Amino acid sequence: MITEGADYELSCMGCGEPAPGGGSQTLDGLRLRWSVDTACASCGPIIACDRDDPPGDLRSRILAANGPSVLVLTEGSLSNARLMKVLREALGLSLAGAVATAGEVRAGRYVGTGPEIERLAEHIRCAGGQADRVRP
Ligand SMILES: [Zn+2]
Repeated sequence: MITEGADYELSCMGCGEPAPGGGSQTLDGLRLRWSVDTACASCGPIIACDRDDPPGDLRSRILAANGPSVLVLTEGSLSNARLMKVLREALGLSLAGAVATAGEVRAGRYVGTGPEIERLAEHIRCAGGQADRVRP
């Protein structure tokens, strides 16, 4: 299980006032989860969590705090057709989106949070390819 998080000030989920808190993203199996918490002086601790895409600026905060990860696909380990199929299934991309993303993956330019990249690497391994999550 891979988790990346960030601490920052956000709006209290109870009253909307600025409050210290933070959030994290976790890869659980092949599913992304996120959680956000605030510690407001008036309302006390509040935690929210859900699956899939994180809310608001949590993703950019996590990227800023942890740095981006890069997906490295081992050359020749997966045909382009299979890679595009994986990308469409794992990321819900259109055909055009999968073509563009496959180009980024093969060029070593596909970046994301650690949990996001590990999830896609795991999908590629499930399809018989070899992929790693690397911190540049
Ligand atoms: Zn509050």
